[in-house]
Amino acid sequence: MAREGHKYIFVLGGVMSGVGKGVVTSSIGLLLQEKGYAVNLVKVDPYLNVDAGTMNPTEHGETFVLRSGLETDQDMGNYERFLGRDLTNEDYMTSGMVYQSVIAQERALGYGGKCVEAIPHVRDEIMRRIDAAAAQNGSNVSVIEIGGTIGDFQNELFIDAARVLKAKHPDDVVFVMVSYLPVPSTLGEMKTRPTQHAVRELNSYGVQADFIIARAPQPLDARRKEKLAISCNVHADRIISAPDIKSIYQAPINFEKDKFSNALLDALKLPEKQKASLTAWKKFAAAVADTSAPEVSIAIVGKYFDTGDFVLSDAYLSVIEAIKFSAAKLGHRAKITWVNSKDIEKGDAKALAELASHKGIIVPGGFGESGIEGKIQAIRLAREKKIPYFGLCYGMQLMVIEYARNVLGLKGAHTTEIQKNSEDPVVDLMLEQKKHLAANTYGGTMRLGAYPARIKKGTIARGAYKKDAVEERHRHRYEINNEYVERLEKAGLVFSGTSPDGMLMEIAELPREAHPFMLGTQFHPELQARPLSPHPLFTEFLKAAIAQNA
Ligand code: GLN
Repeated sequence: MAREGHKYIFVLGGVMSGVGKGVVTSSIGLLLQEKGYAVNLVKVDPYLNVDAGTMNPTEHGETFVLRSGLETDQDMGNYERFLGRDLTNEDYMTSGMVYQSVIAQERALGYGGKCVEAIPHVRDEIMRRIDAAAAQNGSNVSVIEIGGTIGDFQNELFIDAARVLKAKHPDDVVFVMVSYLPVPSTLGEMKTRPTQHAVRELNSYGVQADFIIARAPQPLDARRKEKLAISCNVHADRIISAPDIKSIYQAPINFEKDKFSNALLDALKLPEKQKASLTAWKKFAAAVADTSAPEVSIAIVGKYFDTGDFVLSDAYLSVIEAIKFSAAKLGHRAKITWVNSKDIEKGDAKALAELASHKGIIVPGGFGESGIEGKIQAIRLAREKKIPYFGLCYGMQLMVIEYARNVLGLKGAHTTEIQKNSEDPVVDLMLEQKKHLAANTYGGTMRLGAYPARIKKGTIARGAYKKDAVEERHRHRYEINNEYVERLEKAGLVFSGTSPDGMLMEIAELPREAHPFMLGTQFHPELQARPLSPHPLFTEFLKAAIAQNA
C-alpha cells in the first residue's frame, strides 16, 4: 500500500486539544524541508462535514480556502505559511470525505458484492488518501496531523490506519504525541501524570509514541523528562520541551535547540541531507516578535468574536497573520483591536468614536445581516476621516454600498444577500449562484479558489503588486453589480482590478488624491500572505497606516 521508501510522521494529541498540534506539524514540515527533504502536510479532521465550508466560524475558526477552492481547516493555513507553498486537495481529509468516497464506490459496485465495513474498507480509503497526498506533492516525507485527542471515538479509524502502516513498515512510520503538562496554580508544580495516561491510552490502540512534545507553560526540567521517559517508554532525547511562546513562529527555532529534526531523521533512518540553517526564518521570527518596534494600531471590525464570555479571534486568523507579516517587513508591530460591528450598530457612539483613534481599519470577510450596518458606519468614518481602510470580500462589497449610498446618493443601495428586493442592488448574485440557492446546494458551491485578475495601470493596486496580472483566492457568492459600475466610476470610485474578461469587479479603490488608502478586494488576499513573502496589498495598507503615525 505504502509508497516505496516513503516516510510517515503521525502527529497525535494527548490530554487536551488546542495546545498546538498544528504548529508542531507545521514546524516539523519546515524543519525537514530545511534539511533538504520534500515534505507534505496532511490535516485529518474527524468530523462528518465533507469540508469546512458550512461551519460557523465562531465555533470552528476560519475556513481556509486552498488554491484549488477546497474549503478546509485553519491549520491548513498555518501549514502553507510554514512551508511557504500551496497545498493540494489531497492534503486535507475529513471523515465525511472518506465515507462519501466509500459509499460512492459501494453504489458503483466497486466492492464486488462484498459487505462494506469500517475495517477494512474505510481504513483502506484513509490509507489510499494519505498516499495520494504524497504522490500529488512528490514528497519524501508526509506529516499527518490527526485532529482531536487520543480517546476520541471519531479519530479511531485514522489512528488504526496509522497503526497498520507502522505494522507493515516499521522503519518508515513515526508517532509524535503532543501532550499538555499542566502547572496547577495551587501546586506550582508541573504534572506529568495526564501525559502518562495519554501515552498509555495510545498504547491501548496498539501504538507506541516515538516522540513526546511536552507542551506546558514552562520548559520541561530534567527530572520530569526522566520521569516521562521511564513511564512512557520514550527515550529522553525524544521528549521535546515546548513551553508557551509569544509567537508560533518561534516554535521551529526552539525545537532545534532540542535537536528535534535530527532526532526525527534518526528515528526515520534518514540521512541529514543538509543543515537546517533557518536563516531567513529566524530573521522573520525575530522581527515579528520584536516588542521594541514602533506600534501601528489597526482596528478589525467584525462580528465572529463572541463565544460565551470569551473573545476569540480565530475566525480571522489569516487576516491577523497577514497584518503581522507586513508590519514586520516594515519594521513595525501591529497592535490589533477587535471592534464588534454589532456594538457600533446598536448606536454605541463610544465604539464609533474610539474607532477613529486607530491608524487603519479593516473590515474582513463575512456573511449575513447581523452587524452589517455597523460595518457600513465604520467604512463611512474611514472614508470621511481619511483613515486607511482595507476591505476584504464583504469588506469590499460594503465599501461599494457605502459609496453608492453616501456619495452617489442611492440611499437604498444594498446587497441582495440582505435585501432581496433592494431598489438599488449594487451587490448581487451571479446567475449560477441563483440556481444553487434555489436548490439549497450550499456546500462547496461559492466562487471558490484561485482566479486570475487584471490590474489597471496607475492605480494603488498596480503600484503595490508591481504587475498587471495576479491570481488571488476567492470565497463568495455575491459580486458587484455591473449595472452600477459606470455610475460609481463617474462618482470617483476606481475598479482597479477585474477578471481578465472585464466582467467581474475584483478590486475597488479611491485615488490617492482623494484618500490615503481606501481599497477593497473581492478576493481574500490574506490567504496568500506568507511569513517570507508578505502580501503586497497588506504591506501597502500598513504603509499608509504607519504614515498616519507621523
Ligand atoms: N457574503 C458575501 C458573499 O457571499 C461575502 C463573502 C465573504 O466575505 N467571504 O459574497
